Amino acid sequence: MNREATNLIRGGLQRSQFDETAEAAFLTSGYVYSSAAEAEAAFAGEYDRYIYSRYANPTVSMFEERLRLLEGAEAAMATGSGMAAVFASLACYVSAGDRVVGSRALFGSCHVILTEILPRMGVETVLVDGTSLDEWEAALDGGAKAVFLESPSNPGLEVIDVEAVCELANAAGALAIVDNVFASPVLQKPLALGADVVVYSATKHIDGQGRVLGGAILCSEKFKADHVMPFTRHTGPSLSPFNAWVLVKGLETLRLRVEAAAASALTLSTRIETEPKMAGRVTVRYPGLESHPQHKLAMSQMSAGGTILTVDVGTKEQAFTFMDGLQLFDISNNVGDSKSLATHPATTTHRRLGPEARAEVGIGDGMVRLSIGLEDVEDLWEDLDTALAV
Ligand SMILES: *Cc1c(COP(=O)(O)O)cnc(C)c1O
Repeated sequence: MNREATNLIRGGLQRSQFDETAEAAFLTSGYVYSSAAEAEAAFAGEYDRYIYSRYANPTVSMFEERLRLLEGAEAAMATGSGMAAVFASLACYVSAGDRVVGSRALFGSCHVILTEILPRMGVETVLVDGTSLDEWEAALDGGAKAVFLESPSNPGLEVIDVEAVCELANAAGALAIVDNVFASPVLQKPLALGADVVVYSATKHIDGQGRVLGGAILCSEKFKADHVMPFTRHTGPSLSPFNAWVLVKGLETLRLRVEAAAASALTLSTRIETEPKMAGRVTVRYPGLESHPQHKLAMSQMSAGGTILTVDVGTKEQAFTFMDGLQLFDISNNVGDSKSLATHPATTTHRRLGPEARAEVGIGDGMVRLSIGLEDVEDLWEDLDTALAV
């Protein structure tokens, strides 16, 4: 069996009869049969072949297989966006009357699925402080069908004890689903920590160059066959083969990009924290810093602190002044890009939560989320130093 770096380049590669070097983009919605009987046999499931790209496509399969190998999962299912993966992972499994327990610090749209969409379908959802094992235990006491958590969380970088929570979830009979977008599959492997299902927005680090949307669900073969496939086949959150082609090529450089960006994120957060003229004015939060409240836990389950940090500069006005002063960082709500990006969560990605829900998960008006890219770290530092000095 090949090692991780090799699998990222060669995993899942299926060459066509033309012997191309690079993965081919099979931009086709359907497939042809040599006879009516062959079509009948394909639909009867008598043999394995491509039938329709809502179910499967060769380029999408290459992406799924490469990501599956990276994650160490039995099965993978690609989706058209990260939110399609999040929704499908829950909706394929829960029914009216079931209970879902989630961590409160969630990406805005994950929060909407748990607090608005699932409850409308008769699913009871309970949100807890993800860092408190007591709260998880109390909430799971009533039983649950699934647990959903994000670690580190977007944007507050709250770190949850994935192993402990998955154990509590399983003990309560719940399926443990982890949104691993912020860590990326390079820095954290939730399945090895006990998760049953991992979901990704491939839009973030996996593409990492701001081009396409995509997502994925990683799980057991049984969960894919019994729950994910029967749901996605008929509801159609499929990944476009073109996007799959971009993403499979993205995986080739994922490790190099994430490791480089994480190294820069550590350098920059350390400098912000130790720069005398920022002392008392700027609070930096990064899982790789000892000052992060769950630093030890973060380092025990992640191989680096990630590519994203936050700074709190006081008020909304001060946050806007800082962001408008940035010359190199772009103002954009994406993360995990090769371009460094700055976002004001309170007025954009987490606007819908409202001030109370934001306060509960530590998203202040002065918080700016910085996604560190691949530019020269000295150029990034000069940009931050200048804009934070105002
Ligand atoms: C961006 C993001 C998503 C959603 O992914 P899309 O590809 O934008 O649909 C889900 N979870 C987290 C943590 C994210 O950052």
